[in-house]
Amino acid sequence: MKQLVILSGKGGTGKTTVAAALAHLASQALPIVLADADVDAANLELVLEPNQLEEHEFWSGKRATIDPELCTSCGVCESVCRFDAILAPTDASSGGAYQVEALSCEGCASCYYQCPEDAISMEDQHAGLWFRSDSRFGPLFHAHLFAGQENSGKLVTLVKQQGRLAASDLDAELLIIDGPPGIGCPVISASAGADMALLVVEPTVSGVHDLERILGTTEHFGVPAVVVINKADLNEKRSMEVAAFCAGRDVAVVGEIPYDTVVTEAMVHGRPVTAYTDGAVTRALAGVWHCVKERLML
Ligand code: SF4
Ligand code: SF4
Repeated sequence: MKQLVILSGKGGTGKTTVAAALAHLASQALPIVLADADVDAANLELVLEPNQLEEHEFWSGKRATIDPELCTSCGVCESVCRFDAILAPTDASSGGAYQVEALSCEGCASCYYQCPEDAISMEDQHAGLWFRSDSRFGPLFHAHLFAGQENSGKLVTLVKQQGRLAASDLDAELLIIDGPPGIGCPVISASAGADMALLVVEPTVSGVHDLERILGTTEHFGVPAVVVINKADLNEKRSMEVAAFCAGRDVAVVGEIPYDTVVTEAMVHGRPVTAYTDGAVTRALAGVWHCVKERLML
């Protein structure tokens, strides 16, 4: 089973459009499993309209909680918290006890160890949900991280792990991972162990810079990368810059997708663009899939 991760140096480059299209095209040729690893903004489900089969809680990270019955308002916790997450009592509503500002708490537990009254406990956080669903193109594993929660890298790893297990059980030949944007910890989690990264870039002012950053990440972790330029005809000069940069780094450009409003139209109808039209965008994406398939030897 091969793993293809689809990444971009920043959000909004059309990464999910490409992932959904490849899911559609690949599923016509071989059994696949899908994982939406963009757990902060899971969009693949909007295009694939999955039928949810399972829902699971995701618990992660610790947060300090103060028991107002035990707190004697000594202020030690406030003085040791480096994240300014402890609030001194300001009115009678807190009963005179100190409180933890949950969004600021990093879970370091300094306050827990320093409280002379054992008034502080460290509690697991219900940080999100993950799902197993069926889609038109194969099983889909996806997740939602709750607002303000961290550890999305851990949730990405979980979603990917579930996808890999399902792919193994079902003898699927390809796991397609719609990765998170950027270059942070979730991207590293999504890329780990991948056989290929498909990097989606747009011909914008920051296009080459964004590509350079994400390429640095994939190279560092030894994941071979190829590039697709989305909306390539919107700025041909910038597209040529991207192509020249790729040539200089010995990275193949496996396709250039033209700009077309039909992409948005297809999304509004809940369809991958390749399942919606057979125009120039679909032909370009079919070319991308052909190159990826060849390179992965599928
Ligand atoms: S260290 Fe403990 S007792 Fe002192 S203010 Fe903080 S929670 Fe209350
Ligand atoms: S666990 Fe750490 S970050 Fe959270 S309130 Fe205590 S000292 Fe501050």
